Amino acid sequence: MYVVCADLEGVFVPEVWINVAEKTGIPELRFTTRDISDYDVLMKQRIKILSEKGLKLKDIQKVIATIKPLDGAVEFINWLREKTQLIVVSDTFSQFAEPLIKQLGRPTLFCHNLVIDDENNIIDYKLRQQDPKRKVVEALQSLEYKVVAFGDSYNDVTMLQKADVGILFRPPQNVIDEFSQLPVTKNYKELKALLEKYL
Ligand SMILES: [Mg+2]
Repeated sequence: MYVVCADLEGVFVPEVWINVAEKTGIPELRFTTRDISDYDVLMKQRIKILSEKGLKLKDIQKVIATIKPLDGAVEFINWLREKTQLIVVSDTFSQFAEPLIKQLGRPTLFCHNLVIDDENNIIDYKLRQQDPKRKVVEALQSLEYKVVAFGDSYNDVTMLQKADVGILFRPPQNVIDEFSQLPVTKNYKELKALLEKYL
């Protein structure tokens, strides 16, 4: 039996940090896992910028509350969840994800946590575990499930490679070039067509 592990940002909702960069007018916050492959380097950079600019968790949460799912995402998820179980496996944080997951009909979410101080500053982050996306696939496989996984970016690659079926969805060209063995889908219609072979 197949279950599905899906990325969140760039797949069902826009990139949170790009929205934050635009709405706060801080272009340095635009970098994502599409640009910087080392997640720790990326997150430390974001936290440093937020601290320098005096932005607190509540400021970021206000921006996130305005983000809508990508066109067709909710319909796609509804279609998928009639076929099988969906687990959203994200490198976002529980403090950020709530308004997004609510709009998607509350699929199961595995993600990380931010460390917040008494004054609502984001001071650090705690990964759920190292290589968290791949570990979810391994755990499901240990339960005798087969896994179809899809995502758009560098931080999805180990999950896609470990999955029984791994699919890139709307990836940037550098990811396509670097991981040319993974099939590429450019919209929900193409992704559906590929998934239908397995689900
Ligand atoms: Mg993504």
